[in-house]
Amino acid sequence: MYFMENSDKEVFEIINKELQRQNDHLEMIASENFTFPAVMEAMGSVFTNKYAEGYPNKRYYGGCEYADEVEQLAIDRACKLFGCKFANVQPHSGSQANQGVYQALLKPYDKILGMDLSHGGHLTHGSKVSSSGKLYQSFFYGVESDGRIDYDRVMDIARITQPKLIVCGASAYPREIDFKAFREIADEVGALLFADIAHIAGLVAAGEHPSPFPYCDVVTTTTHKTLRGPRGGIIMTNDEDIAKKINSAIFPGIQGGPLVHVIAAKAIGFGENLKPEWKAYAKQVKANAKVLADVISKRGYDVVSGGTDNHLILVSFLNKEFSGKDADAALGNAGITVNKNTVPGEFRSPFVTSGIRIGSPALTARGMKEAEFEIIANRISDVLDNINDTALHAKIREEMKELAHKFIIYDRAIY
Ligand SMILES: *Cc1c(COP(=O)(O)O)cnc(C)c1O
Repeated sequence: MYFMENSDKEVFEIINKELQRQNDHLEMIASENFTFPAVMEAMGSVFTNKYAEGYPNKRYYGGCEYADEVEQLAIDRACKLFGCKFANVQPHSGSQANQGVYQALLKPYDKILGMDLSHGGHLTHGSKVSSSGKLYQSFFYGVESDGRIDYDRVMDIARITQPKLIVCGASAYPREIDFKAFREIADEVGALLFADIAHIAGLVAAGEHPSPFPYCDVVTTTTHKTLRGPRGGIIMTNDEDIAKKINSAIFPGIQGGPLVHVIAAKAIGFGENLKPEWKAYAKQVKANAKVLADVISKRGYDVVSGGTDNHLILVSFLNKEFSGKDADAALGNAGITVNKNTVPGEFRSPFVTSGIRIGSPALTARGMKEAEFEIIANRISDVLDNINDTALHAKIREEMKELAHKFIIYDRAIY
């Protein structure tokens, strides 16, 4: 029995419908995951009541002794997990973390060089619709026709544009990021190097992707993607001077009171990431993504860059009659949630696109392994082969629902 059930049946029912949706569908959006029930418990805890502007032992309000304790624990665990000296665990999201980095290290009109959104970068890496592209002069590198970053090309662009800060990291890049190569580029042009590992942090934490340390000056990540923690962001560095600037940029620069209940949840998430089991999860995420790439390419589809080193694949329909939007909709009808995505050589609009992005983290969290991913990859290919066959999509939807119900994490909507 929940309080909500009596006080607000309307919201209670919506939340329960969302649980049903999550249980019935196969979640393959690469940026999504299923967090730990203990993380959800912390987010519903009494810490939501507490104002704690400032940092541990330097607060503007009284009664912060336990807020201090839990924030320090989150900081210590983040530093241990990623092998760095300083962490700010207050950013409300990945975007706020990135905004904090820019605010700390740049002045308006300074030049930044990031990965183009349509090549796999993130809005906050200088896109004109984001404050990162309005406050700063942004320039971009991208991927080549083989779907990979050519580091010599990035070097050329950096030499021409002379950025003050280079952003590396992506939202839709299936290959390893070479932080050392980026360091050489940054050194060549005297730029700061900033890694946004929002997508790959869970792999980095497990040693399943090279670490941005010691090459990068500052690193941000979300905590809710491959890390499976609560929705939020963090910023890390080994440089004390940068750490001080970051802290002032987050508070009072761009945020007010920290979300102490979410910080408690971040601590719990990092605790999970530090357990030996985490390595097995990260390995399985990669193994499952590889099955997707292998099966879907065997079935005749163009997997961008020929495969994957991480948790996601991009499938290109440049040579097909249908678009990414069509594929996204057809797979949705078949109970498989993915997202449309631009691909190298894109000629359709960002609302239509010629590709889809498919990720393995969420279904791996549900306990699925290679055998299930092989079935799913074949069903994805069946849908793509028969993009207009709605009867087939409905049939696959039932099969996928049955499969999904064998792997349930949550027995209730609220923890
Ligand atoms: C998801 C993502 C972000 C933003 O995270 P939000 O929590 O949605 O603000 C930033 N950078 C990259 C590379 C991402 O993939």
